[in-house]
Parts: sequence; structure tokens; C-alpha cells
Amino acid sequence: MTTDGAGVPGHEDAVRARIAAARLWAAHQAPYLASAVFALNPVILEPALDEVTGRPVADPDFRAFPADTRWNLHVEPGTALATPIEQIGWWMLHQVGHLVRGHAARSPVRPEPGRQVSHAAGAVRGEQAHRWNQAADAEINDDLEAEDLRDPEGVVSPAALGLPANRTAEEYVPMLDVLADAMGRGGGALSDAIDCGSAVDGQARAYEDSGSGDGLGELDRDLLERSVAADIQDRISARGEVPSGWRRWAEERTRPSVNWRARLGALIRRGVSTVAGQVDFSYRRPSRRAGAYDGIVPPSMVRVVPDTVVVIDTSGSVADDVLSRLLAEVTGIIDGVAGPNRRLRALCCDVRPHPVQVVRRASDIELIGGGGTDMRAGVEAATALRPRPDLVIVLTDGETPWPEHRPSAHVVICLIGDGGHAPGWASVARVPADVPQRPRARGGS
Ligand SMILES: [Zn+2]
Repeated sequence: MTTDGAGVPGHEDAVRARIAAARLWAAHQAPYLASAVFALNPVILEPALDEVTGRPVADPDFRAFPADTRWNLHVEPGTALATPIEQIGWWMLHQVGHLVRGHAARSPVRPEPGRQVSHAAGAVRGEQAHRWNQAADAEINDDLEAEDLRDPEGVVSPAALGLPANRTAEEYVPMLDVLADAMGRGGGALSDAIDCGSAVDGQARAYEDSGSGDGLGELDRDLLERSVAADIQDRISARGEVPSGWRRWAEERTRPSVNWRARLGALIRRGVSTVAGQVDFSYRRPSRRAGAYDGIVPPSMVRVVPDTVVVIDTSGSVADDVLSRLLAEVTGIIDGVAGPNRRLRALCCDVRPHPVQVVRRASDIELIGGGGTDMRAGVEAATALRPRPDLVIVLTDGETPWPEHRPSAHVVICLIGDGGHAPGWASVARVPADVPQRPRARGGS
């Protein structure tokens, strides 16, 4: 096998053989992720060659075998040849974690104007992008550790950093900020500056242009995720071991929750408190019991209630009576958190948003629309409203395109039936298509 400079066919064969072996290793370690591991599309990049020997040299910027959201795995030949098979396999499982859990869509990272996205990690990438990558790694890596898979050196591990396990990337960000600050004062660093690629933050890298191939489209990705979730559930029913992070993901991805009322309530309440901050002590409104204190007015606890908009998919694929019952549920929950008879904004949407309706009760909302569905238009119109809403609740069967990135408002999606899909950046409660009438009688209506 001779080298002729740029071509180096021998190396490419060797690289492909290592990738194939790593795939088998990964599928064997976590059989419930096998279909995902085999869906990864390796794209072999141009090697950097040693001037003297003509052999590919490993580029540390590619040590994570960075992926993009179309499931392309970017393989830098020098790195592939220098990395043990087991470690390449470990990175494959790790990248599947980023992809399946929607880290790119959940990412808070936005492109920085005027700055060319570099393929390199570290200095060129912004601080926020780096932190998000670490937090997303923490979310995935504890599940890999639960499978007794050793982390490669320098990667983030919640256990090694003394952080709680089984948290989400969003929860790890502030914890890592605190830790990094403390360690930075001591001259240390949390972990190596590893760049996992656009699969982690949705920002395209320069190397993705060169022959990235097609990869998977949205529909393929959705089908693949469902089949991975089904594999995990099969393994759970067969009493096989599955790390808790993967177990939770598969449960949320597949079936409507038995406790969907509880879940929906928890999500809306969490949305309300995340957004509004907590309970605010204020003298603005005297307590009703003020009279009892003989003229001394105690501070009343005023809940700062976030402005909520409900977006309703009226494209016709969901029956009106189902929507009406769900709306009653949702407004019931909001009343419970915020107090009754608050004004609520509702926005019906099919392919485009209809005029906003300001109502006090769910039954006052007029369901208008029909035809196709595009919830991108609905979410966009809701977040563009003034005053700007803090919380957007979407009722839909999920047979719709979604905005690619996290909108400015917190979004809770009430996903009706067991089809459809919701984007990774949203909080999702699956609700059965045959919503039963609310069991509790509530006096009048
Ligand atoms: Zn990663």
C-alpha cells in the first residue's frame, strides 16, 4: 500500500474498517441503541498528512467524531487511526445521545454575527457554546457510565465532578458555571474543550460542507427515534437493564402518559414558576385579612403571573370537542396557579395564525380554522404578540413542522394522540386522543 500524497487509498480502507468494528462494539455494548448506531453516516474527511512520513496525523479538534443533525459522523482519518476501537465506539454512543435527545434544537447558542464558524473547539467557540456542550455531555455520560463504559480522558462526568446524576443539560449549565468559576480561580479547568459538532448546538461547522452527503431527513429521524424508543421499551419489558436517562427518554417519546393530567399540570406550573420567578413579597396589594391587624398592612404574597398564550391547532385533524375539553383542562390548571378569571390570550392556527382572542373562560374561545397545519406560524405569531408572552401552550396532534430553534418564550406542547412529534426544545405532555370528560364536577359549567 503506497501513499501518493493526497489520495491515500490505503488509509481510507483502514479507517472504514475501524469504523465498522467500532459500530459492532457499540451495538454490542448497548443493544437497545443498535439501530441508532447503524444509522450514523460516517463521512471521511480529508486527512492532514505528515510531511515526512506521508501518514495522516491526528487532529485533536476531531477527537469527539463530531456529528451533525442529519446523523453524519465526521471522521478525521488521523484521529480514527490513532483512537482505540472501543473509544471510537464510545463516541458513537455518545453522539447518538446528542442526536436522539435533540441537543441541537434545545441549544441556547445562537450564531455570532460576523464570526466564521470554525471547525475547531476552544478559543474560537464562544463560552456559552462550550458550556452548553459540557452540560449536554454531562446529561449523556452518566448513562454511559451506568453501562460500565469508561469515559475517555478529559470528558465531563457528573460523578467525577461530584454533581448529581440524571439531570438535564439545562439543569447542568448553572451547576457547571459555578464549578468552572471555582476551578478557574484555582487555575484549573472543568474538562478539555471538546467540540461534539453541530449535533450539540445546531451551529454548522465549516467542515460540514465538504461532502457531508445527505444524511437523514426529518421524517427518517422521527421514524428512527421511534424505533429506538420501542427497542428500549422492549428491553424494559423483557426485564433488561437500561440506564435511567434512556428509560425516561423512551417513556416520554412513546406513549401517552397514564398520568397525563398530572404531567401537564406539572409542566404548566413549572413553566409558570421558571418564567415568573417565585413568589414576590409586595405591598402593592393589601392582604384581604389586613383589617384583622388593626391598620397594620402586612405584605401580601403576590404571585407574579406570567403572560400566557394558548395556541390551538385548528387544522381539522383534531376534533373540536377534544380541543374544547383540553382547553378546559389547561385553563383549569392556569386558574389553579394564577387565580381564576384571568384574561387569557388564545390563537387558533392552521397553516396560518388567526386573530388573537382575549377571553376569560375556555368556553369563550371560538375555534376557527381548517385545512393544513403549520405550527411554526402559530408559535411565531404567539411569541411576536405584545405584551410579549412568557409561556406559550400549544395544543396539537403534532403533525406539523416546528421552529428549528427554541423560541424566546417557554413552550409547553400538549401532544394529542400517539402520532406526531414535538421538537426537542419544548416541554411535552402526551394526551390521549379520546380525552375523557373531566371527572370532577365543577358546579355550574
Ligand atoms: Zn458530546
